[in-house]
Amino acid sequence: MIKSMTKVTSIIAIDGPAASGKSTVGAAVAEQLGYLYFDTGVMYRVVTSVALDRSIPIADESAVTRLAEQVKIDFLPPTISDGRQFTILADGRDITWDIRTRAVDANVSPVSAYAGVRSAMTVQQRRIGQQGHVVMVGRDIGTVVLPEADLKIYLDASEEERARRRYKERLERGEQVEFESVLKEIRNRDQIDSSRSVAPLKKADDAIYLDSTGMTAAQVVERVLDMVKERERVG
Ligand code: C5P
Repeated sequence: MIKSMTKVTSIIAIDGPAASGKSTVGAAVAEQLGYLYFDTGVMYRVVTSVALDRSIPIADESAVTRLAEQVKIDFLPPTISDGRQFTILADGRDITWDIRTRAVDANVSPVSAYAGVRSAMTVQQRRIGQQGHVVMVGRDIGTVVLPEADLKIYLDASEEERARRRYKERLERGEQVEFESVLKEIRNRDQIDSSRSVAPLKKADDAIYLDSTGMTAAQVVERVLDMVKERERVG
């Protein structure tokens, strides 16, 4: 009898709280493996940004849900070399940086708590994820979107470290911001994301918990690639 076949790690799910390094690590792991990198947070950010832009009240669940069902979101390779990971279009308009504003940060968690918004996004995420050769990052990938993922990681870091990383990013983008307000925003978002009734942020039972506090992004990437190798070696 053949003892074991090589196990292919085709679908990798990375979940975790705000600013835990999911995007940086997910993108680098995908690049190393030659896989598609898909950041699901972007989709919730697009809905939020377009709602704010069109003055749709965030508290109006049915209007926000309708928007989520109708808006056409496109991910393209970077069209401008300004530090973006990819170019994001909403109904054909480039909103790559609009989705990173503080107004979006402050409103995205209530938007993504709406069941109708989530189901509109989840259908699209599943379709992309199930094609395989993908690293998908978010809050509910291992639990709800792709529970069949081959490797699930729950990436965490202390609240202070996550706030420091996000604070630094914002300063580098030339924004005037207080550390305390970044910390508060992250706490608030995590609180809403982990307590909502539909697909809350939580570690899947079969996910590997990885605390990146005190680690560099390169070290975390290395650790994840080791997990892939280890999985394939054990077979
Ligand atoms: O990952 P990022 O910080 O860009 O996500 C923005 C927000 O989108 C999160 O705070 C959360 O409310 C929502 N989100 C979600 N489910 C996902 C990804 C993001 O609810 N899979």
